[in-house]
Amino acid sequence: MQNRVSALLSDLMLIPGLSGYEGRVRRRLAAELKSLGIASRSDRLGNLIATLDGDASAPSVMLFAHMDQLGFVVRKIEADGLVRFERLGGVPEKALPSQAVLLCVGEGRDIPGVIASKSHHATPQDEKYRVTPYAELYVDAGFGSAAAATAAGIDVGTPVVYAPKVVRLAGDRLAGTSVDDRAGCAVVVEVARELLRATRRPTVHFVFSVQEEFNLRGALPAAQALAPDIAIQLDLVLATDTPDMGPRGDVALGRGPAMSMYSFHGRGTLNGLIPHPALVSLFDGAAKDTGLTLQRSAHIGALTETSYVQLVGAGVAAIDLGFPMRYSHSSLEVCALSDLEGLARLLVEGIGRIDAAFSLDPDDYVA
Ligand SMILES: [Zn+2]
Repeated sequence: MQNRVSALLSDLMLIPGLSGYEGRVRRRLAAELKSLGIASRSDRLGNLIATLDGDASAPSVMLFAHMDQLGFVVRKIEADGLVRFERLGGVPEKALPSQAVLLCVGEGRDIPGVIASKSHHATPQDEKYRVTPYAELYVDAGFGSAAAATAAGIDVGTPVVYAPKVVRLAGDRLAGTSVDDRAGCAVVVEVARELLRATRRPTVHFVFSVQEEFNLRGALPAAQALAPDIAIQLDLVLATDTPDMGPRGDVALGRGPAMSMYSFHGRGTLNGLIPHPALVSLFDGAAKDTGLTLQRSAHIGALTETSYVQLVGAGVAAIDLGFPMRYSHSSLEVCALSDLEGLARLLVEGIGRIDAAFSLDPDDYVA
C-alpha cells in the first residue's frame, strides 16, 4: 500500500493546482478513480465527487480532502518585465525570497521564475534580519520587458505556485510542495480502493474539494448537495517533534495518524471544530483493535473546512483526522509515508464499522 500511496502522492505533488485553478489535479484524480472502476462527477465549483453506495440504513459518510494549494496571483507586470504578485492563502513571507516558482499559463506552457532575493552584498545590516513583505518582492522570469512577459502568456491574475518538487528523504519520509493536502487526496483514493472491495460498508461519498486555502468553504456546496450524516476530513496535523514546536503538543512524525480534539481560529473566523463524540469513540476503538497508534492534537491557530461542513443542514457529525506534517505552507513540507498508510488503514477499519446500529446521539457517549 505504501508504494501505491507514495507513487500517487508524488504525482499529485508535481501537478500545480492553486486555489480556484484545481483543474489539472481534478483530472488526474478523476482518471485515478476511473482506473479503479469508480465513476466521479464535478459540481459547479469544481469539487470532485465519487459515491460508493452501501447499507442505506447506516449513516452516510462524506470523506474529503482538499485538492488546492496556496500560492500567488500576478498583480502587476512592471515595464521591465519583473512580475509583482498578490498572495493567495497563508503564505509564509519569511520563506519567499529565493524560491523557485511556476507561472501557470497553460499545461505544457508554464513559465518558471524565481522570487528575487536582494543581493546580499547590497543589503545593509538592519535589513539582514528583516522579513521583506511580499508586496516588495517580485518574480524574475527572465523577461526584459512587459511586452515579452505578456507575449509568453502572463497576465494580471495568472496563478503562481511554488515550483512543484518531490524530495525523498531518509527512511519513508518525503518532502516537497503541497503535501498539504495532496497527501490527504492520496489517502482518500486508497480508502476508496479498499472500501470498493468491502462486503459491508455504509454509503460513502469521496470528495476532493476546492478553494480550501482561499476561503475554507469550497467543500460546502458538496456537503449541502450530499447531505451526509458524518463528515471526515483529512489534512495535515502539525508535527511538534522539532525543537521549535515542542510546547504546542505531542505529535511525532512517523508515529501514526492523528485525530484533532480541538481546533479554533479566532482571527476573523470565530470557528473551529470539537469532534463529535461518536467519531472519537469510533476511531479510538478502530485504532486500538488494529494495533495502530492514534495520536491526538488540540490547539488553536488552525482551521479546516470541517468547521463549516458540520453546520450544514440539521448538523453533521464531524471529525478531522490527519497525518503529522512538518513545515506547513513552506515549499518543502515533510511527511512520513507510514503515517499515510496508517491513516488509510484506520479509515477503512473505522468506516467499515459504521452500520445501522451506529448511534450519532451525543447522549449515547457520555463520559
Ligand atoms: Zn490543508
